[in-house]
Amino acid sequence: MSTVTAPTIHCIPVLSDNYVWLIEGRDGATVIVDAGEAAPVIAAIESRRLRPVAVLITHHHGDHVQGLPDLVARYPVPVHGPESCGRAGVDHVVVDGQQIEIPEVGTVAALATPGHTQDHLSYVLGKDVFTGDSLFTAGCGRLFEGTAAQMLDSLDRLAALDDDTTIHCGHEYTTDSLRFAAHAEPDNAKIATRVTDTAACRAAGDPTASASLAVEKQTNPFLRIREPTLRRAIEAYVGQPIDDDIEAFAQLRHWKDDFDGLARL
Ligand SMILES: [Zn+2]
Repeated sequence: MSTVTAPTIHCIPVLSDNYVWLIEGRDGATVIVDAGEAAPVIAAIESRRLRPVAVLITHHHGDHVQGLPDLVARYPVPVHGPESCGRAGVDHVVVDGQQIEIPEVGTVAALATPGHTQDHLSYVLGKDVFTGDSLFTAGCGRLFEGTAAQMLDSLDRLAALDDDTTIHCGHEYTTDSLRFAAHAEPDNAKIATRVTDTAACRAAGDPTASASLAVEKQTNPFLRIREPTLRRAIEAYVGQPIDDDIEAFAQLRHWKDDFDGLARL
């Protein structure tokens, strides 16, 4: 995985809480990651005088693809993504392990990360990875199509990247995700610090959807199911011992879904 130059990453808010990512390489050449809405992305591209050269789509949900027709009408560039996104406008189907050569930006490696959807992809470029709705900052996507086993395997694959890799995810969910993380691990001081840091970022109007894998491993419960303290907390939630990682992950996911339901009351 090579980059032509260290890219500049721009985070563009779209819809209510989605992000589109712009990866700016040499001479304004730019890759667009996901396409939930076109107008704010076009405005960001024009104001920065960027030059789109490709689009990468993580998965087929509308809030990641519905801006694609307008984006491609404006910028007729190749659109790479999973097979299920064909009707949404993907014209270059990508599979796990595929390398996508993008002149002036670099070589992007596709990583299959199913669980949220069956053919969800993440994209690795140098020390950055774009994770869509698989690994979130301090959380993970809900299991709409896939299984807990698939999502755990996907998160393990992402966690195997270098610790100084920066993840960039598809939603501004960090505050809510950390509320659950602090509930599940009340004695984890790094989670408490991240709660404070995230609140300051949000108060300043800044996005919090990027973080290093090192930070995620310390504070994201979905990357920590093998930690004894969290495992005991999951067992307490379930009311019985768990000796299987997939079962622990599935129960943690249930626990968060329960917690979110209660939080909405
Ligand atoms: Zn989604």
